[in-house]
Amino acid sequence: MSGKPYDAIVVGSGPNGLGAAVELARKGRSVLILEAADTIGGGTRTKELTLPGFLHDVCSAIHPMALASPFFSELPLAEHGLEWIHPPLPIAHPLDDGTAVVLDRSVDVTADALGSDAKAYRRLMSPMVAGSAKLFRELIGPLRIPRHAILTARFAWRSVRSGSGLAKRWFDTPPARALIAGLAGHSQLPLEKTPGAAIALMLGIAGHAVGWPMPRGGSQKIADALASLLRKLGGTIETNRRVASLTELPPSRSILLDLTPRQILVVVGDRLPARYRQRLAGYRYGMGIFKVDWALSGPIPWRSEACRRAGTVHVGGTLDEIAASERASWNGNIPDRPFVLLAQPTLFDPSRAPAGKHIAWAYCHVPHASTADMTERIEAQIERFAPGFRDLVLARHVMNPAAMEAYNPNYIGGEINGGVADLWQLFARPVPRFNPYSTPAAGIYICSSSTPPGGGVHGLCGYFAARSANRFLS
Ligand SMILES: Cc1cc2nc3c(=O)[nH]c(=O)nc-3n(C[C@H](O)[C@H](O)[C@H](O)COP(=O)(O)OP(=O)(O)OC[C@H]3O[C@@H](n4cnc5c(N)ncnc54)[C@H](O)[C@@H]3O)c2cc1C
Repeated sequence: MSGKPYDAIVVGSGPNGLGAAVELARKGRSVLILEAADTIGGGTRTKELTLPGFLHDVCSAIHPMALASPFFSELPLAEHGLEWIHPPLPIAHPLDDGTAVVLDRSVDVTADALGSDAKAYRRLMSPMVAGSAKLFRELIGPLRIPRHAILTARFAWRSVRSGSGLAKRWFDTPPARALIAGLAGHSQLPLEKTPGAAIALMLGIAGHAVGWPMPRGGSQKIADALASLLRKLGGTIETNRRVASLTELPPSRSILLDLTPRQILVVVGDRLPARYRQRLAGYRYGMGIFKVDWALSGPIPWRSEACRRAGTVHVGGTLDEIAASERASWNGNIPDRPFVLLAQPTLFDPSRAPAGKHIAWAYCHVPHASTADMTERIEAQIERFAPGFRDLVLARHVMNPAAMEAYNPNYIGGEINGGVADLWQLFARPVPRFNPYSTPAAGIYICSSSTPPGGGVHGLCGYFAARSANRFLS
């Protein structure tokens, strides 16, 4: 760039960093992304973790929030190689009697299988699924005055409670309660904590409204499509550029950090006032994760046929069991029977393994920075619902919290959502502030999942941060 300062430098190329850069480039700004790793993508990378030809998602695998994202849906990502695959069932949740409760794309089909809870499921989901496009616009982002007050109030009324509170308030049967528990298990909160219900509902609504799809070829394709669009818009990306301090950056009029508070404190240092630094230092990180990827000689032999048609399988049994697992990890204990979130991409995308072979992706929550090896316990849970699973394992790759953090310094203690998303920190992240993306240092913005709406691949933290930066640049 012939000495002229960039309008913006983005530190980090996760989906939010890429999203921020695309949004600024769309507004005609000159943008440079600096990425520490040798490839782009952050939480959206795909690699041969086990054996040659087996393409595993290192982090994210299933992407309801990418489709629910009003920002991503505006971008021509299909023109840049992104193709979504929708498994016949978004979610299956096996039970000990050999059956499974499922979330089908249709609310009615899902409800009809819930017996005496059918009516309650329809009553809970139907109005919000019907208004989902408006809900997503209203709720996935910073707190705003709602434009669709009745719909938003309906969601808030149902969601300002815990995951188990939602399950017990609405449903009587163990399968329906288990289905809600599986959704709430994504919140990275104990099932007794508010607002687990909000995460469960948002993911359930998305399952019906937009599906729980996977990109053909793996989550790397999301990053690649965003990067390709960015380059077309004139943006530049440099990899192998770990930023230790802002003092090493080339001249720029603004800086957007795809980093979480712990790193921001180091990288930005004294340019932030003491009070703000103090608040960042008080930012809370939650449970870590333990992840296993397998190369398999065949598909997972689930006892329930429904599980063989689902992209995501929630492996953990009943509401009480899942609640016990999440509570244990939150309180610093190792769960004996962990709640396992599992994806099985090759059932629907054979391009990701050699002919006839398969991959599987799974993780469970563990205490922050835990060093426990959960491989046995995770495999025992899968074996419980799919006897013979272990016989198919050709190779496995495991990552504990320390490995997660070494892989991406944003994953403090193995936490993957940019910080605890309890009622306070879901909206007031990273610190309570009228514009959570801005910092007291002029021109420095935060665009990571440590800002609203938090974790997940939706690019919206980047989008909102970019809009703030663009106003500053105008
Ligand atoms: C195991 C796992 C499974 C997940 N599953 C899902 C899922 O199925 N669906 C879903 O929607 N979400 C999932 N997520 C969450 C999702 O991946 C994250 O919420 C999302 O990636 C956050 O995006 P981000 O842009 O804020 O940050 P990140 O994706 O963390 O990207 C940050 C980038 O900044 C780079 N960086 C860090 N420090 C520096 C530095 N000092 N200098 C330069 N670059 C730096 C990192 O290398 C990284 O590339 C998962 C995450 C993990 C780890």
